[in-house]
Amino acid sequence: MDTETFHESEDRLELYALRRLPDSEVEHVENHLLVCDACREHLEEVSAFAFSMRETLKGNPVIESVVKSNARWFEWLTPRLGMPGAFAAILLAVGIYWISRDAHILPVASLQLTALRGSEVKAVVRARELDLAFTDALAASRVDIVDGGGATVWTGTLRPGAGRVEAKISQVFSPGDYFARVYTAAGQPPQEYQFKVMK
Ligand SMILES: [Zn+2]
Repeated sequence: MDTETFHESEDRLELYALRRLPDSEVEHVENHLLVCDACREHLEEVSAFAFSMRETLKGNPVIESVVKSNARWFEWLTPRLGMPGAFAAILLAVGIYWISRDAHILPVASLQLTALRGSEVKAVVRARELDLAFTDALAASRVDIVDGGGATVWTGTLRPGAGRVEAKISQVFSPGDYFARVYTAAGQPPQEYQFKVMK
């Protein structure tokens, strides 16, 4: 196929940025990006918005941690594309933009909860996967997530980690207040943790 004639569609560029393009097609896209100014310019246009969004979100520790965790992606892109870091950074920003453009839902957010002692309620951004960790309930084996109205919206098991128990919740929560109720196998009353999902 003539890589100069057939431009990459927005859909394919999106899949490429998300690394969801089949391996067999990745090489074709990369070869095309190397030779096609038009497609690179297209990416740059979109990235202008992505950069401005990233500036807006700066200072949010959760989002910063997501950006930081994507640094591996940046390192992956640069040698693969054999391109200057700036262009790889644009691709990274575009990737973040595509991931989050859907109502600003990020791929993963992490939240470490400790028992509420009159301190401020922890907040987390909306994400497709919420990784919850509890550092002071190591004997706990089950967690229920209850919304502000008292309805159980998720229930699952906790897995032991290093000095913590964890749950990966593949569910997008609506903005609002939530309670994580953590149960031990011995049938003790639950320990309750409050958190908030931001808009
Ligand atoms: Zn093109």
